Amino acid sequence: MNLIELTLLAAALATLQAQPAEPLSIAKLRQVATMVPGGRPLRINVVKFAESRRTKNFSIKGAPPEPSVQARTAFQIVYSDGTIMVDSGMDQQVHKFFGRGTEEPYDSAANQQVQRALRSARSIVVTHEHGDHVAGVLRTDFLDEIAPKTILTRTQVATLENNPQMPEIKLTPEMARRYNVIDYDSYFPFAPGVALMKAAGHTPGSQMVYVALQSGAEYLLIGDSAWHMDGVRLIKTKDANWIKEDDEALLAQLRWLNGLDKTEKNLHIVVSHDDEQRKDYIQRGLLGSKLE
Ligand SMILES: [Zn+2]
Repeated sequence: MNLIELTLLAAALATLQAQPAEPLSIAKLRQVATMVPGGRPLRINVVKFAESRRTKNFSIKGAPPEPSVQARTAFQIVYSDGTIMVDSGMDQQVHKFFGRGTEEPYDSAANQQVQRALRSARSIVVTHEHGDHVAGVLRTDFLDEIAPKTILTRTQVATLENNPQMPEIKLTPEMARRYNVIDYDSYFPFAPGVALMKAAGHTPGSQMVYVALQSGAEYLLIGDSAWHMDGVRLIKTKDANWIKEDDEALLAQLRWLNGLDKTEKNLHIVVSHDDEQRKDYIQRGLLGSKLE
């Protein structure tokens, strides 16, 4: 290969790398969610195992600094013949890391409920690699049961190995081998009626979980792309200096979610930490209030 050919090859490679990721698409999610044959899930349950008491301006840039409860939650997708867990709770030590010396509420009975649900689940997936979502599959007395059915993405594992949110959740390469590590570009057919979508921004390994129930109701578990549904409604990112986010990527996600919220009346966007939304969805029968 001569110099001109090499230069052309380098230019072609650069173009490839500069290509944007596949656009966020509800049509694509719906299609990918049909790829695994089988009966669709029947319902989704949520449990709150801890709270963070902050003011609203941290969740939504420019919001008034009024008190706002952030729920820490995990979700259970229920099929006729098994369950899938989305996120995994956390033990009290990780909770203390988040509380920074303050006394924030921690519900150890609820976290035990999460651990029981993880043990009885057929598979476990996490929206992202932060302690309040992933610690329950890393720091557990039941690691032998839980790790083999937990699916982490390559990017999530890379963060946990090289740049964990806290020392307690650091993974070594040997520990990482106990989990199922997957990699995909944009969309992944996870289970009947369930699709994953890459959504880097809050963290490099963030992903959203789309669920289409047997009833036809649709859900999009967006993890921490917003901390409150107002972030989606107002298209406002967070204002929290202790996390490093890709604001541009998050704004693109928020704009897309905002459009869905206005046009897709059968699709329920689920924000992990929005306690007002959690109560509202439970009251309306859209989410079950305890794990099975
Ligand atoms: Zn979180």
